Amino acid sequence: MKNSEIDWVAAYIGLGSNLANPAEQIKSARTAITQIAGVKELAFSSLYHSLPMGPKDQPDYVNAVMCVATDLPPMDLLRCLQRIENDQGRIRKAERWGARTLDLDVLIYGDQLIELPDLSVPHPGLAERAFVLYPLYEIAPHIRVPGKGDIADLLAQCSMNGLKRLD
Ligand code: ATP
Ligand code: CA
Ligand code: CA
Ligand code: CA
Repeated sequence: MKNSEIDWVAAYIGLGSNLANPAEQIKSARTAITQIAGVKELAFSSLYHSLPMGPKDQPDYVNAVMCVATDLPPMDLLRCLQRIENDQGRIRKAERWGARTLDLDVLIYGDQLIELPDLSVPHPGLAERAFVLYPLYEIAPHIRVPGKGDIADLLAQCSMNGLKRLD
């Protein structure tokens, strides 16, 4: 290992889309994330089909979780992910949890607990969301989510909410 790789951190990114060919949006985002300097893909889950949170008058979602190694500080990683959202036509509206071409959330960043004005990590909704927990479990079945507990315990307390794994 090169000396400079000692400071790389494992981070988990949640991907979601429910507009303009969601599965393709997720695949494009995966490629774009891999192309960020200072980010390398370590694992990528299956795609999952989920029901919308919040407003029900919107299409179902496709979700996935990606594990990366990164030497970017957490806010830099978030800014890169937001640029990819914008590049893929994300339009920010006032309505919370409305339809979007792409949503990229920082789920976990190493063992860190982060509370900044624009970034809370682990992601505050993680433990209640089947579309995060199941794909996360698929690629990291033994992970301990900082401040929240073992993934298997979180999963056991979360209902499927109509989540389906796609082939
Ligand atoms: P939710 O965060 O409940 O999944 P959302 O993804 O629809 O909802 P967005 O509109 O995409 O919410 O993001 C709103 C703000 O959340 C962003 O501007 C960002 O600064 C902030 N934020 C805080 N913590 C995180 C995180 N862990 N990952 C991504 N964004 C975050
Ligand atoms: Ca890269
Ligand atoms: Ca989100
Ligand atoms: Ca988001």
